[in-house]
Amino acid sequence: MTNQPAKIKKSITVIGGGIVGVAAALKLQLDGHKVRLIDRKEPGRETSYGNAGVLSDSSVYVLNNPGLLKALPRLLLNRSNGLRYNPLFVLRRIGWVMRFLSHCRPSNARHAAVSLRSLLVLSLDQHKKWIKDADVGHLLRQGGGWFKLFRSKESFARYNKEMSVMRDVGVKFTVFDREQIRQIEPSLAPIYYKGVLMDETCSVFSPADLTDAYLAMFVASGGAVERTSVIGLSHDDSGWQVRCENGVHQSENVVLAAGAWSAEIAGWLGYDIPMAWERGYHLHFKSQTPDTGVSSRTNTADPGGGDNQNKSFTKPNLSRPILDVEGGFSVAPMLQGLRVTSGVELTDRDAPPNFEQISKSASLASEALQLGSQVENKPWMGRRPTLVDSLPMIGAAPRHKGLWFNFGHHHIGLSMAPGSALLLSSLINDSPPPIDPSPFQVSRFFI
Ligand SMILES: Cc1cc2nc3c(=O)[nH]c(=O)nc-3n(C[C@H](O)[C@H](O)[C@H](O)COP(=O)(O)OP(=O)(O)OC[C@H]3O[C@@H](n4cnc5c(N)ncnc54)[C@H](O)[C@@H]3O)c2cc1C
Repeated sequence: MTNQPAKIKKSITVIGGGIVGVAAALKLQLDGHKVRLIDRKEPGRETSYGNAGVLSDSSVYVLNNPGLLKALPRLLLNRSNGLRYNPLFVLRRIGWVMRFLSHCRPSNARHAAVSLRSLLVLSLDQHKKWIKDADVGHLLRQGGGWFKLFRSKESFARYNKEMSVMRDVGVKFTVFDREQIRQIEPSLAPIYYKGVLMDETCSVFSPADLTDAYLAMFVASGGAVERTSVIGLSHDDSGWQVRCENGVHQSENVVLAAGAWSAEIAGWLGYDIPMAWERGYHLHFKSQTPDTGVSSRTNTADPGGGDNQNKSFTKPNLSRPILDVEGGFSVAPMLQGLRVTSGVELTDRDAPPNFEQISKSASLASEALQLGSQVENKPWMGRRPTLVDSLPMIGAAPRHKGLWFNFGHHHIGLSMAPGSALLLSSLINDSPPPIDPSPFQVSRFFI
């Protein structure tokens, strides 16, 4: 006989099978609960499909920092490749914009940095454990996995503040000059004045394969996956009814992890979530170096970006993801080739895609790297779900027992998904949280 209390098993429905929902479902299933994951698509095929694959421990300085206010006059011209906005959207959502900008204070930036750092470190550690458990070590690039590059002295000088905040919260990074950049990444043209390498940041060669691997662990441990659209949510004494196109699913708890669609779903229950969508695009280019045999073990078929006609994967001529700070784009070596990703497009979630930014990104990227032929016919588009304080919401919904929120992971959802899952599971299990949950709690907003 032990004095351990018996583990209480709960039935839990997780809505949304992006990396955030899959990680939450996996953790809760491993805890011993009975979990059903619902997504209208194959899991991991929305925003979690097309990101730059960075598993960051260093992305602590949020976009709405004091420097954003100084940059506003230039950004308002709407010519920056890093940020484009639809003026009508901004006018329609002026409340969100003003609240987002109201967080551009040093104290907010510091609070966000400390909070994000705790979640990022927890997450990276858990990613490494799950990657090992799933036996997909071939997807992981350990350390040195994020290289921020500056073309000019002035832009590097502007980065000083971010470096000081990173240092304060324990991020390890190294600054390199032009010649050192050439030695680290010989395929880059010598256009960069300085580079900042995040020493402990990791990255993956395929975010989709990573989600698939976590999903396979979830299923192997007894989790159920349902492919259907959620169209309604209601609650009574018997628990939650999740109304889907294929019928009604009943459970004691519901986790809402539907990324950019979470605000709409929470809205069905009367919550007014301060969320907007920072849309972003990608395109792949074949590597200029010969195939050295790195290949995908699972399905990386493009979910919406085009035909992905070229299925022969090559090892890219870049050894880690880079971010060109002035150019406002990233290039990440992926199983499909070099993935160029664009910055932020602030517009309606479902507005037709506008490929101007990604085309410009590809053109700017070709100044830095020799890009081979384009892999897809059409760019892919994703939606980063962003809350006004640039922190995700992880915790109990204020007015509904058994409803849990886990969304708003903006630019770093791939990085933060496992830590968010650990935090959420501790709250659902009523066990000690692994980090301070207060910065992420839902009740920080009156919604
Ligand atoms: C260009 C770009 C580059 C990025 N680079 C990085 C990076 O390098 N590192 C990093 O950490 N992050 C990065 N991000 C951010 C990251 O991709 C996101 O934060 C993350 O994917 C969000 O995951 P999610 O699970 O919350 O949302 P999603 O992946 O969008 O998943 C939400 C899921 O909910 C489902 N859903 C929605 N509504 C319903 C419904 N009614 N019924 C059923 N299912 C529903 C959708 O089908 C979808 O699968 C990047 C994003 C972009 C756009």
